[in-house]
Order: sequence, then C-alpha cells, then structure tokens
Amino acid sequence: MNREKMRRRYRRFPWLSDIGGIKSAIGELRGIGHPEQPKLRKSSASRYDIRVTEDWFIDAISSRVAHHVENRMEYPFFGERIFDEPLVGFVRGNDPLLLEYKEIIGPHHFTPEEIMAWQAKRNGVPAPAAEELSVVSFVLPISAKTKEDNAASTKWPAERWAQTRMSGEMFSQLIVREIVTNLMKRGILAVAPDVTPMFNKKRYPKAGWASPWSHRHMAYAAGLGTFGMQDFLITPKGAAHRCGSFVVHRRLTPNRKRPDDIHAWCLHYQGKECLKCAGRCPVGAITREHAHDKEACYRHVAQSTRHCLKNYRLFIYGCGLCSTGVPCESRIPAGLRK
Ligand code: SF4
Ligand code: SF4
Repeated sequence: MNREKMRRRYRRFPWLSDIGGIKSAIGELRGIGHPEQPKLRKSSASRYDIRVTEDWFIDAISSRVAHHVENRMEYPFFGERIFDEPLVGFVRGNDPLLLEYKEIIGPHHFTPEEIMAWQAKRNGVPAPAAEELSVVSFVLPISAKTKEDNAASTKWPAERWAQTRMSGEMFSQLIVREIVTNLMKRGILAVAPDVTPMFNKKRYPKAGWASPWSHRHMAYAAGLGTFGMQDFLITPKGAAHRCGSFVVHRRLTPNRKRPDDIHAWCLHYQGKECLKCAGRCPVGAITREHAHDKEACYRHVAQSTRHCLKNYRLFIYGCGLCSTGVPCESRIPAGLRK
C-alpha cells in the first residue's frame, strides 16, 4: 500500500478507533469506565513474600518499559519507543508531607491510607495503617525524537507528542494495572488511585483544575524531581515525561534524597536567568510575575483537541511546549546539579 493511501486509511474514524483514548479521558474526568479492580487473593501465603522488595518494583517497571509491546508508537512512527528508561522512587505512607498535601493541594487530595482503606473495604480486609504502606512513583522520560519534534512546534503539540499523550498514558495505566494485579494475586493489597471511581479531575475553589491524586506531587515526595516555573516536574531526566504512581501494602525504603526546596532544580527559582519556558508558551500562560496561569494553560490545551483530531486523527489534547526546547527538558539544568 503506498504511503498516501495508508495515510488516508489511518484512523479514518478516530471517534471510533480511539475508544481507548476516549475512555481514558472520561476516566480522568469522571472516574468511570475503568476496567474492574483486581481482587485480593486472601488465601495467598505470599503476603510477606520477601522477594517483593524495592528492587522488585524497579525491575517490574523498568523491564516493562524496555520490552512491553505497548510501549510503541503508531503509524507513521511504527515501532518507535514512546518512553525511555524510567526513574523509580518510593515514599512511605506515613511521610508527614503526604498529610501536608491536604493543605498544600487541598483537602480533596487522598492520603495513601485513605485510598487504601477503600481497596481494603472492597476486599473485606482490615485497612492497613499509614506506616505499613508505601507509594511507588515512577517517571517515564519521553523519547528524544518526540522531544525534538515538540521543541520545533510553536503553537500546537507535534504528532509524536500527541501520540505519547494518548498511547503513553494508556501504557502507563496498563503497566500499573499489571503490577497491581500481580500483587493482589500474591495477597498483597495494592491500588492505583487514578483508576478508581473516586478519581475525577475538576475545578476546585482554591486549587483550580486539580485531581484527588497527583502523580507529580508523589514523584516530588519520592525525591524524583522538583517543580519548575511551568509546574512540570524537573527530574534528573528532565521535565519532558509522564509520571505515574500507586499505593502498596509494603514497607519500602525511600531510595532518593528529596530536596527541601520544591524548586531546587529550576533556574529561575534559583535566581538565575532563564524563563525559556515562558518564551515557549504560545498563549503567555507563564510570566515572571504570576508563574504558571493554570486557567490560561487549560484553555489552550483544551483547544488543541481540535488540532489533534484534524491533523493527526487522534482524539486527544496536549501541549507541553514549555517542557521542550528549554534547559530543563532532558536534565537538571547545568549549575543546579549536585
Ligand atoms: S525553562 Fe528555565 S525557568 Fe522554565 S522551568 Fe525550566 S529551568 Fe525553570
Ligand atoms: S502546557 Fe500550558 S503553559 Fe505550557 S506551553 Fe502549553 S499552554 Fe503554555
């Protein structure tokens, strides 16, 4: 089949072919339409399985990113990897910062204990105490080609970026689901908060657009990154990534040191000349005076759906221009690395 014919046939009916993407978007906004939660195998003797260690989680995530067939782009980028080697970190369920998030993000944000109580109740077992829980957090760095394309864009997300937003998010949820199911079969309670019916992204009076479980804040708590001017998390592998997290009934030891300063790896916040992210924003949503205007950003991101549908035949929204073509795109900026 020649290329032009293939292009015409590709996703001719994106409203139908993107059922997965649409379901994922509805799940994000309304907390519905997710696959059934896995059941806890109560008779399992492996609840105290010593093999389920920090290294087990690092390997479970890294090996999926390296080998999973779903970590792949679609036409016209067949076979390219969506994500590169991940970063994985841990935070204990009783870390005081997780309770402080009720103040910092808002009272709607779950603690690991609250979300796990829901999973325990569903399975008819006692709810574990906060100190018996951990959050496993991970960062999936976006591939070099995708970053390059988005860095060359000036208004709307590049096609590779839009595919990453859609297929990459589904991949991230899929691998978490596989790991959570594996743990539940071993008799270890686990839950992915963003695929429960309580998860719904909405506009809160104080916080603006927010969700009751922030992967980014979990990643900060786990020492994986700090926040930039554009509110992206700047990690040792940069700000162009997707992140995920889940809660597990396991006492895991944090493997990274969390900087006290939540902006430790952003040049501007450290008093150095930069604001390159502001220059990249097509709608002026980042300014020296007001940092990141979430509402202006949201309006532009929402409008990108039309562009993605018309040009890429993808029912998805996105932008990320401020995280590409900037000094913090793929690393902690020089001068801030310890
Ligand atoms: S581009 Fe510069 S100012 Fe913006 S988040 Fe990155 S380091 Fe901070
Ligand atoms: S993601 Fe938001 S802040 Fe960043 S460039 Fe796009 S519209 Fe601007």
